[in-house]
Amino acid sequence: MKYKVYTARNYREISPISKLNSEDLHNIDVVSHVLPFKTNNYVVDELIDWDNFRNDPMFIFNFPQKEMLSAEQFDLISKMVRANASPAEIREQANKIREQLNPHPAGQELNLPVFDGETLDGAQHKYRETMLFFPSQGQTCHAYCTFCFRWPQFTGQSDLKFAMNEIDLVINYLKAHPEITDLLLTGGDPMVMNAQILDTYISRILDANIPSLQTIRIGTKSLSFWPYRYISDPDTAEVLELFQKISSSDKTLSIMAHFNHPQELSTPAVRTAVEKILATGAQIRTQSPLLNHINNHGDIWAEMWRKQVKMGMIPYYMFIARDTGAKEYFDVPLARAAEVFQQAYTQVSGIARTVRGPSMSCNPGKVRVVGTAKLGGEKVFVLEFIQGRNSQWVGTPFFAKYDPQASWIDDLQPAFGEEKFFFEEELAEIISTNVEKH
Ligand SMILES: *Cc1c(COP(=O)(O)O)cnc(C)c1O
Ligand code: SF4
Repeated sequence: MKYKVYTARNYREISPISKLNSEDLHNIDVVSHVLPFKTNNYVVDELIDWDNFRNDPMFIFNFPQKEMLSAEQFDLISKMVRANASPAEIREQANKIREQLNPHPAGQELNLPVFDGETLDGAQHKYRETMLFFPSQGQTCHAYCTFCFRWPQFTGQSDLKFAMNEIDLVINYLKAHPEITDLLLTGGDPMVMNAQILDTYISRILDANIPSLQTIRIGTKSLSFWPYRYISDPDTAEVLELFQKISSSDKTLSIMAHFNHPQELSTPAVRTAVEKILATGAQIRTQSPLLNHINNHGDIWAEMWRKQVKMGMIPYYMFIARDTGAKEYFDVPLARAAEVFQQAYTQVSGIARTVRGPSMSCNPGKVRVVGTAKLGGEKVFVLEFIQGRNSQWVGTPFFAKYDPQASWIDDLQPAFGEEKFFFEEELAEIISTNVEKH
């Protein structure tokens, strides 16, 4: 299958687009000036249910929706489009709106590792055991998710972009930090890189012989956006050989696959792709944010996890959508998130209960909403860290006042009249030390 990209420029060439009316098309045109829009022939031909496109999760998470902008934001751009404003004028307004959409959430700039006085700005080291690496050729995707928190990277605002070429710096850093067992290649989507570039990175890492490094992870959405990567691309054989090379070394390869809905697991192509990857000896773990309009129901998650397990994959994370981009459109309150997780978790066997969540990737760490409880007459959220800037925080339950509207950690107050959460002072110290380093 040959890969064909559709963006705001050429999406009207897609044949099922005839099912959309002129207002639908205008809405897409307006919102795509602000939010990234890119889809491809696999998504269009095999994933989207065009007879039901208005409610189809595959359509919604690829095609920009009117409600993803506020009414004022939408009207501003809409008027400019109708008045045939110049691209430069529209871009200027769109950039202003993007700034309002919190393009750079949760203090990621604090996670930049420093080695020998040099900052590695294509990497992040926040949690002791796991380092993230953003290979510069992997900072795009086979299609763009309308909910993506990494969207500033795709909009040409280059100063917001984490990208780095220097794998040598990463290797030196890994050698100096034997506590790091996992290197996670991420993006964008590293699987947009061709086999040769991917091999350059991977082989350098393997050849560096770092005994403390155990697992190489690759975060990717390719299984749902372009499964042909593992079936019929010109370099498919080399990609699978490279996976095999990692698996037959003393390292483990874990593909961290991003799936948001069971529909993405239903095509013959994705089933074949999963089989091919597993045949290389790699493991596949899965993750997704919880998103209104896409997967805001326990049954959807239960079906997704059951299918994944049946296909040989390991459910790993349910995330709470980050405080960025079209957050309000996709927002699910924390109380609802805990409910959806529980609804789903209780209907699957222990084999699928490897999944953890719902979890917020926020400044102090990954915070899981365990549930709600009544303690000493007060209704509270029970929370715990599943990752922390300080590893010692992990697994300690803590409590916040129940708030049915809260949808992010910033909305929460400590329970029982306490002034601060137990980690806040230490977090402030860690952050001021990090700020000094940079
Ligand atoms: C989620 C995340 C990781 C990975 O954490 P694991 O618990 O090892 O899966 C690493 N770094 C950052 C910044 C993360 O957000
Ligand atoms: S595949 Fe991942 S990085 Fe790419 S747009 Fe979707 S969520 Fe963002």
